[in-house]
Amino acid sequence: MARYNDASCRLCRREGDALFLKGTRCYSDKCAFKRRAQIPGQHGKDRMMRKQTGYEVQLRAKQKVRRIYGILERQFENYYNTASAMPGNTGTNLLHLLESRLDNVVYRMGFGLSRSQARMWVTQGHFAVNGQKVDIPSYRVQPGDTIEVRENSKLRKQLKELMEKTSGREQHTWLEVDRDAMKGKFLALPDRSLLDQKIQESLIVEYYSR
Ligand code: SF4
Repeated sequence: MARYNDASCRLCRREGDALFLKGTRCYSDKCAFKRRAQIPGQHGKDRMMRKQTGYEVQLRAKQKVRRIYGILERQFENYYNTASAMPGNTGTNLLHLLESRLDNVVYRMGFGLSRSQARMWVTQGHFAVNGQKVDIPSYRVQPGDTIEVRENSKLRKQLKELMEKTSGREQHTWLEVDRDAMKGKFLALPDRSLLDQKIQESLIVEYYSR
């Protein structure tokens, strides 16, 4: 499976926002974006001063979301096409599709310090959906589905410790999490108002509608 392997912190600096791609480091003073909120490269400062064209604004809005969820270009476009074919608001549909990914749900439940770590646990087969092992990070979780660490997972202890580390994180009303049982339920698709307000999905729709 193809993956984007460039330094995560460069992506935050490129998008001009902390995207929280690296776990605990993101919440510390070591965060590269906190220390140097500038576009990487020799002319980064100049590029920040320059007024962006409409196309650039749309492109950046798309890239930012793609990077937050760790999705490659082609797959992101597929998500957009699926979202636009669904009834309702395309931008909201797109966010719902991304939020329903198993790696994202596992991360939101607190089993990963970052989405990439959650993706790794999923790929290694430590999770089950409705009692069945699922090792596909893009698996689409449906409202009502139960997600749990598999009984025979070798990482149960490690994942339990991870959950303790992430216990101070924001709790999401669309997820029910039982930390002791190491399981949770995806109750419903989140209302748009509950998701990142800095995401500008209407610009993504404009980008693909050009
Ligand atoms: Fe982004 Fe800071 Fe986390 Fe690096 S440490 S990925 S710059 S939020």
